[in-house]
Amino acid sequence: MSRARATTALLAAFGAALLASLPAHAQTPCPGAGAQNVLGPARIIEVDTQGGGAYGTLQYARSLDLGEKEILFTFDDGPDPEVTPQILDTLDRHCLKATFFFTGLRAERYPELVREAWRRGHTIATHTYSHPNNLRRFAPSYARGQITRGQEAITAALQGAEDTKEAELAPFFRFPGLNDSARLKAWLAAQDIAVFSCDFGSDDWRRISAWSVYKRTIRSASYMGRGIVIMHDTKARTATALPMILDELVKRGFTAAHMRPKKSPETLAGLPEGTLRPEQP
Ligand SMILES: [Zn+2]
Repeated sequence: MSRARATTALLAAFGAALLASLPAHAQTPCPGAGAQNVLGPARIIEVDTQGGGAYGTLQYARSLDLGEKEILFTFDDGPDPEVTPQILDTLDRHCLKATFFFTGLRAERYPELVREAWRRGHTIATHTYSHPNNLRRFAPSYARGQITRGQEAITAALQGAEDTKEAELAPFFRFPGLNDSARLKAWLAAQDIAVFSCDFGSDDWRRISAWSVYKRTIRSASYMGRGIVIMHDTKARTATALPMILDELVKRGFTAAHMRPKKSPETLAGLPEGTLRPEQP
């Protein structure tokens, strides 16, 4: 074999190994790839949750390391049989990946939607079992039970089909109503779970029109210039507003980011020999 051909073969083998090292859902081709005027594909940010961490300047000292005009979409409270499929389709059209903070109770009711979000390459995170709005008001054991039961229910939904058996829940948590407590944050940190607030909201939980959700989200995105935004995949107004929001962000020169948990060295050590390791940032 000539040197050039040997090099080509070697590169092909490395490429295949690299692809094999990515989770199957991350290999899903983007339906909007190559299309004009789409917000994605999103830059991937790997979040190291060792020792916990709290992100989102609405409540915490720091956020993720987002660039200028870079937005990261998060959706809370789902899945919902009407709204979540519409949100997933809109995100696909923009070649965009998001993070879904699902609740356990809804994951039990609609497990296929949890799996579908995973199959389309989104990050699956948790938001308690039944969404008690303020965990501070409850006994610590009840609050911890809400978080754990949520994680268990969503994991069960996620891994409940043959093709998603290997799916993994991200160690990312969002407090209902953003009502955190120092005690619960410390408990989560001890389990290497990061807490996510936001940098700005969309007000989609308020009784306002889809047009108002669109206007307020664009206004906040423009004012802040970057950030993690919270939306809800349980609200019809959100499904209506999202296409307008994404189109307008493209026009205004925004791009998107997507977060995933950083793989631990033990996980990487389990890869087959010869597999390329993702580069360290
Ligand atoms: Zn919520």
